[in-house]
Amino acid sequence: MSFAAEIEHSLSQPSPLLRRFGGLIEPADPARLEALARRSQQLTRHHFGRTMRLFAPLYLSNECVNNCRYCGFSRDNPILRTTLTIEQVEREARHLHGLGFRNLLLVAGEHPKFVSEGYLQACLDTLRPTIPTLAIEVGPMEDDQYAEIVAHGAEGLVVYQETYHRPTYETLHTSGPKKNYDWRLDCPERAYAGGFRRIGIGALFGLAPWRHEALALAAHLEYLLRHCWKAQFTVAFPRMRPYAGNYEYQPDPSLFLGDRELLQLITAFRICFPQVGIVVSTREPAPLRDALAPLGVTHMSANARTEPGGYTGAGHDDLHLTVRGRRVELESASGCERATEQFRIDDTRSAGEVAAMLRGQRIDPVWKDWDEAILGADGTPAASPGAATAKDAKNAKNAKPEPVPAP
Ligand code: SF4
Repeated sequence: MSFAAEIEHSLSQPSPLLRRFGGLIEPADPARLEALARRSQQLTRHHFGRTMRLFAPLYLSNECVNNCRYCGFSRDNPILRTTLTIEQVEREARHLHGLGFRNLLLVAGEHPKFVSEGYLQACLDTLRPTIPTLAIEVGPMEDDQYAEIVAHGAEGLVVYQETYHRPTYETLHTSGPKKNYDWRLDCPERAYAGGFRRIGIGALFGLAPWRHEALALAAHLEYLLRHCWKAQFTVAFPRMRPYAGNYEYQPDPSLFLGDRELLQLITAFRICFPQVGIVVSTREPAPLRDALAPLGVTHMSANARTEPGGYTGAGHDDLHLTVRGRRVELESASGCERATEQFRIDDTRSAGEVAAMLRGQRIDPVWKDWDEAILGADGTPAASPGAATAKDAKNAKNAKPEPVPAP
């Protein structure tokens, strides 16, 4: 049995938890929304303390074998592409390390060569000594491939279903292995079987009616918590942004997840899944991120770039196009070109500015995840005044509800 085999049943015969979740995302007046936000804040303080885990995406490559109609990296888009060398990946990571990041998400388009030729493994081997928390967001793999990636030092995996609405999924994925809805949907379970213990799921909001996406995402999370109980999970609700090939992107009003609905969604997940991490990325505008930070969010990206080499300019000397997946050299280049980004981010503040914003709200930015950092040689927690968990525990104990800012 897998979630792909259960999803239709989960949605047509919802569990008590899913029915509750469905009630929480029904249209709400301002007083109800404020009450939900207050409850979400209390639960977050209780389970996570006054902390926010900060991470940065590190794009390795924008080469991809899929065509997804909402993504600038699609195989047939005539964009400037590159795959960073291992030395260039290291340079990008060193830059982020210098800004304070100890938690990186390695992102790449989908291409079998990344794993079969040992590229991803070599990236992990290189970064592992300096970056204690490494996660990947790349094309889905088999269980045994996941086990190999875990052995090379990745402990987190992010895979978004994009849309849980099967007919929409089939329309938007026009070619490539990603066309297989079930293969992608069962990816978190394969990752768990392969040894990943920190798994992020989500949907790309704006592709299908948002309440359907939210219910299916909640059903998926409930299933995973039941079947993959040794792992920690996060959920994310990325909203569509202008992207290469469609910088004029305007959201479809009938599918759009508005700011108030996004807040409501965060509160519904927090109330139904109090111990699950909630991620809000730099896709969202700074004022909204600031308002959401104390109300249920536990993980934020900062200072993000969505192109390979975005932090240091690495890889600009190997830019090329692809035609039907085959490399084509540029006919002329000025030398100033950069690889094409996946999508436009909105919150362009530096890592330091985001950290200062959090401190201003009395939330501790956590740059280094606690797992390995606080374990002593015998695997038991070591006393470390600077460790995030020590602060977490103290904060959680002293948690008090805060005034809820207007969303
Ligand atoms: S969404 Fe992912 S798989 Fe699809 S084109 Fe973009 S990078 Fe490739």
